[in-house]
Amino acid sequence: MDIDEKINALHECENCTDIQIKKFSPLRDLIDFDELTGEYMRCECGKRPLDIVMSHILKIMIESEIVPEKATLRRNSPVPLSNFYFSSLNPQFIGKKTLILLHPDFTDEVAIKLMDEVPEVACILKGSPQNTVGQFDRDSQITHFEILAGDDEQINVMRTLLGEKIVLVKKQSKHHIEVAMTTEDKLVRLHNYIKNNNVEKGVAIDAMCGLGALGIYMHKLGFKKVIFNDINPEMVDALKDNLKLNGIEEGFEIYNESFEDLSVEHADLCVIDAFPGADIEEITKKAEKIADNVVII
Ligand SMILES: [Zn+2]
Repeated sequence: MDIDEKINALHECENCTDIQIKKFSPLRDLIDFDELTGEYMRCECGKRPLDIVMSHILKIMIESEIVPEKATLRRNSPVPLSNFYFSSLNPQFIGKKTLILLHPDFTDEVAIKLMDEVPEVACILKGSPQNTVGQFDRDSQITHFEILAGDDEQINVMRTLLGEKIVLVKKQSKHHIEVAMTTEDKLVRLHNYIKNNNVEKGVAIDAMCGLGALGIYMHKLGFKKVIFNDINPEMVDALKDNLKLNGIEEGFEIYNESFEDLSVEHADLCVIDAFPGADIEEITKKAEKIADNVVII
């Protein structure tokens, strides 16, 4: 995978022409639906303005009657996720096969239409962005967004204070929605915590490691051993891929347990990055018992 090439491809060309569609007005009042085809407003570089692509998508959703006739971009659009994120870059012109769409009312029929007619669409996921996917805690089941069509692989590239980039690959149907910019903020907070508290770079625990960003960062920062743990076996699989992708071959252990059951005698630092809204009281207590420093990110 050539990351730099992918980053370069995010930029628009000098001929890309912007157009803004009003987000709060019914789409039908703003644009002639007959014009909205796969080539409408496409630049010679192959990109189209995001608003045009989202309008094209919403048009198909309106015609398929899964959203109201008076649907607006603001109220009725699916969540547009990119299959490649770099830092805080938020391209307003997008190329073919780059969008992962999430909406609770997608059907198989609409999914096929969107894949066929909108060249930018790479994957259709059915689900609500309010729902947590993955495994919330030890008492809950693993949940996914449903893949109706396409490939849900997403790459996130984070810049770091070390100058080195961290790359995470995930299957968006299986993971909580978090994009590169959010992870990058967490890495900065972790970096500052370690520095400000003069944390000894011995053993670190990434207690709910998910894709492994925080643990990978601590490894790159020079910790002698990083203990990765996640209760969800699917996260452990993704973590293993991401360790390889970031060139990490030793100096770590991987566990697939609830943190409450993890057996570690002592660590210099334990990082807790729980699901939003999770009750982490018991987890924090345990972390404080085994680690000299505990940081909740
Ligand atoms: Zn262009």
